[in-house]
Order: sequence, then C-alpha cells, then structure tokens
Amino acid sequence: MERWQKILSESITEPKQLACHVSIDPDSLRPVVARYPLRITRTYLSLIREMDDPIWRQCIPDPRELEQDGLLIDPLNEEGLTCAPGLIHRYPDRVVLLVSSACPTLCRFCMRKNRMGDKRGFIKDDSFEAAVKYIEGRPAIRDVILSGGDPLMLTDDELEEILIRLRKIPRVEIVRLNTRAPVTLPERITHRLCRMLKRYHPLYVNTQFNHPTEITSLSAQACALLANAGIPLGNQTVLLRGVNDDPEVMKRLMQKLLTIRVRPYYIHQMDLVKGTGHFRTPLQKGLDIMAGLRGHTSGMATPAYVIDLPGGKGKVPLLPDGVKRQGNTFYLRNYLGEVIEYPDGEADNC
Ligand SMILES: *Cc1c(COP(=O)(O)O)cnc(C)c1O
Ligand code: SF4
Repeated sequence: MERWQKILSESITEPKQLACHVSIDPDSLRPVVARYPLRITRTYLSLIREMDDPIWRQCIPDPRELEQDGLLIDPLNEEGLTCAPGLIHRYPDRVVLLVSSACPTLCRFCMRKNRMGDKRGFIKDDSFEAAVKYIEGRPAIRDVILSGGDPLMLTDDELEEILIRLRKIPRVEIVRLNTRAPVTLPERITHRLCRMLKRYHPLYVNTQFNHPTEITSLSAQACALLANAGIPLGNQTVLLRGVNDDPEVMKRLMQKLLTIRVRPYYIHQMDLVKGTGHFRTPLQKGLDIMAGLRGHTSGMATPAYVIDLPGGKGKVPLLPDGVKRQGNTFYLRNYLGEVIEYPDGEADNC
C-alpha cells in the first residue's frame, strides 16, 4: 500500500469518530450521514480551527442537508446528456468522463452528492470501452475531461490505463483531469504519479481551492510537483455561503493561488442541487466579488464567474454590468444564443 492509500484509509467516516475531533452531536448527524455519506481525510480535518469555520462548513455534515429545499437531484441534466456509461456530452467538442465515484473528502455542497457512490468505481470494464468507442466515433471531440468523483482515487496504474487508451484516439488533443486531491489529500500527489502523468501531455489539471486556509505547505507542495511535471494548473472555486462569499476573502484566495502556480479559471455559482440550498448565495454576491477583482488585482487572478444553466444549457459567464433581471429572475444568454430563465439565490437571512 502506498502512503497516500494508508492516509486515505484512515479517513473519518462515522459521526462517532468525528465527535472525537470536533464538537458535534453524533446522534443529530446520523440521519444526515445515512443519506449523504461522511468522509474526511485527517489532513483536511486538521485545517478546522473552530466550529462553523470555512473548512468545517465544507466537510462537516449539517442537518440542513435534509431540508425540503425544492432543489433537484440532477439540475444540469447530466443523466440526459449521458451518451455512454459515465460519459457526459453537452458541448460539441468536449466531453466529461466520470472515472471514479468517490472522493478523498466528500464536500457537503457537491453537485453530484445525490448520485455519488462509495465505490472507487473504476470503469475499466465494458462501460469504459463503450465510452471510448463513443469518443472514437465522434471526431469533433478534441478535449476529454476526467472527473468523478475524483480521478485520483484510482491508482497510478489504473489512471495510466485510461490515459493510454485516450491517447490512442488521434483527434483527442488535450486531456483535463479535475481533482480536489491537492486540497483534500495532498499526499496523493507523488513523484511517481507525476512521472506517469507527464508522459501524456498535453495534460491539464484543474483543482478546487475554495478558501485561502486551504493553501498550506502540503497543498502548495502538491501543486509544485504537478507544475514541475509541466502540467498547467487551473482552479475552479465554488462560491459558497459562509465560506468564501466575501470579496476580500476571494481576492486573497485568487492572489495566493498564483503564488503556488495555480491559475484561477472559474468561480462557480452553486448549482441548484438538492441538499445544498444552505450554500447558495444571491447572484449579486458573485457580481460584487467580480467587481472587487476586476482591475483591483492581476488579470491573472481574475477568473470568470459562471453559472451552469439548469437543464444542461451550458455555462454562462456573468459580468457585473451585463446581467438582465426582472424581480427574482435573471435572463441569461447561453453559447447557442438561447435565453434561459434563472432563479436567484436567497438573500442573507441568517
Ligand atoms: C463544464 C463542462 C465542460 C467544460 O467546460 P469548459 O467551459 O470548457 O471548462 C464540458 N462538459 C460539461 C458537461 C461540463 O459541465
Ligand atoms: S471533490 Fe468534487 S466531486 Fe468530490 S465531493 Fe467535492 S465537489 Fe464533489
């Protein structure tokens, strides 16, 4: 067993275990965990400083997850856009391939939280072959995004098998790997992993830092190893109420990411996912954050603020002065020129 696997196996998965580390009432969390599993690596847990701080909110189960929030299991219609097992094809030239259904730490706000298994879910069986066949049959696809779950829950060898297979498809120009492991299990980023990955360039890694306190010597070291392997690093932050819904916090996060060679790519408005309503912010919050970044700091520290439109209509970047609204409804134009109605998040009421 590699060291990261041992650390992973020591993750917290039971409310009773959690109660030894943070002050929670394990009984009150049991129903939540029965519905949405608990998993936190000890490395990530150690970043918690106090109750309800930004790390706590991202990983500690919360009874509000069980509230009737009127939100959906699959608001982006990923099921409907699934063209082969584990393959989501929404845009003409790129696909998302779900190669794992588990993560080192389960984020309470996860967009796939209602559909996440607890198996590592390597799809090297027939279903992986079916996905590859689909890509091979569509020459327009030039960009394959490995996601999950977290692709780095696979072993190096399993991941390499996938990369070898994808690299046999001549029209696939780039591969992206979306992983939160640099943040939640930085020990996963080993020299061995990086030696393997760099054989499959051009390869991009997008990670997900959501708060400046997630930038530690361990996570910085993980990013340095990837960057030293020639892998351009991007970051997709999720805008989360009570975590990073503050222009100053967000600016510091974006600036600090550049110091560890990670280029901010997107800030995501929360998807309309069942069980995550308490994380949603009003759109104005995101627009204020963008206004606080644009021009006030490096353009390189200024990502795009995007909404993934309901129904799988695509991501739309929002600019502070380019938004049409009427009451609580926004009218957003997607890449096809369609105008899509989008309901706003609740204003602060707590
Ligand atoms: C986000 C997403 C992509 C990638 O979008 P980019 O804007 O190119 O990063 C591709 N497919 C699906 C289904 C997505 O949700
Ligand atoms: S790392 Fe990503 S996929 Fe995994 S639980 Fe967090 S948000 Fe979901």
